[in-house]
Amino acid sequence: MSLLIINIKSLIQVRNQNVLKVSGEEMKHLPTIENAFLYIENDKIVDYGNMENCKNIKVSKTIDASGKIVMPTWCDSHTHIVYAGNREQEFVDRIKGLSYTEIANRGGGILNSAKTLQNTSEDDLYQQSIQRIKNVIKLGTGALEIKSGYGLTVESELKMLRVIKRIKEHYPLKIKATFLGAHAFPESYLKDKQGYIDLIINKMLPKIANENLADFIDVFCEKGYFSLDDTDAILTAGKQYGLILKIHVNQFNAFGGVALGVKHNALSVDHLEELNQDDIDALKGSDTMPVALPSCSYFLSIPYTPARQIIDSGLPLALATDYNPGSTPSGNMNFVVSTACIKMKMTPEEAINAATINGAYAMGISNEYGSITKGKIANLIITKPVPSYNYLPYSFGENNIETVIINGEVIT
Ligand SMILES: [Zn+2]
Repeated sequence: MSLLIINIKSLIQVRNQNVLKVSGEEMKHLPTIENAFLYIENDKIVDYGNMENCKNIKVSKTIDASGKIVMPTWCDSHTHIVYAGNREQEFVDRIKGLSYTEIANRGGGILNSAKTLQNTSEDDLYQQSIQRIKNVIKLGTGALEIKSGYGLTVESELKMLRVIKRIKEHYPLKIKATFLGAHAFPESYLKDKQGYIDLIINKMLPKIANENLADFIDVFCEKGYFSLDDTDAILTAGKQYGLILKIHVNQFNAFGGVALGVKHNALSVDHLEELNQDDIDALKGSDTMPVALPSCSYFLSIPYTPARQIIDSGLPLALATDYNPGSTPSGNMNFVVSTACIKMKMTPEEAINAATINGAYAMGISNEYGSITKGKIANLIITKPVPSYNYLPYSFGENNIETVIINGEVIT
């Protein structure tokens, strides 16, 4: 199979020399070729350049992209896309004035999702989840991280991770699986928190490692959830099983979780709505990617991650959806990129870098995904005719995507 895309108005995020991530000032630059061609063989990007240099070669398929932008697909490095049921009733309760705590006390929140998931069969969970997967592919996502964490029992956490594995086997997009047993304390362990941490470390982790069900381990490090000591113990155990580390940190409170993540050489620290100078200093010089989740801030009306402070300190930043039934029932990376520009004052160049190459870095796959680079996997978005790439975040809420290519094949 060979595919040639010609007359591309702008081919964006072109990196002749592959980079694994872009930081600070570098994020302001989005390398672009105007009036370009792109040549794909099987699932790989083989060649690209200005139309003047496009050789007249025999190909299986040609696409004329006149007036359109071609770019790498979005890399969404933080989702909880595998879940059962929805929580639209809590959404209505919150509009009517109930607080999150009141909703949780009524049996809502993560524990509500856990109860529903525990009572949903593996097949049903798979069927519900693939509807969302199909949807995010249409929205231009070509690589996705998916977390467990609505099981909260040995059996149900395994069920979630097996569903993620099944999605990996049946769908062409790149998927990374994360074990998030430490998402919340289940009701039966509320008076024995150490007991649940022991269950994660001694029962869940060995089984997950044995079935090779996870690439990453994650902890919800937050007041009322998992403390610094709990997080430290769980990450240390995860590392011993060869898992790479991530943390949900600083969503509501800043109390040293970022530094703990950096100490453990976490691949990413995610949320960061509350961020202080110590957190920024801890991240400087580290290999840990800060990840912002603006559609969560939008949905919950909580502060946005201070992107300007992070980028102006010379740090990198990635953007992801946090797709989940409670705080972000949306997997739309186009909306995330728009919201990052509108609410976090990121430039379109910074936001697109954050949602492609830096998102790929936060999944440990930026050697193969996240930019237009020879030898990388051909996961691409072709937009509808648009005046410039600035139009993509500007026209928020509009679907500008015409075609999605995954592994060199036209999907939609
Ligand atoms: Zn999350």
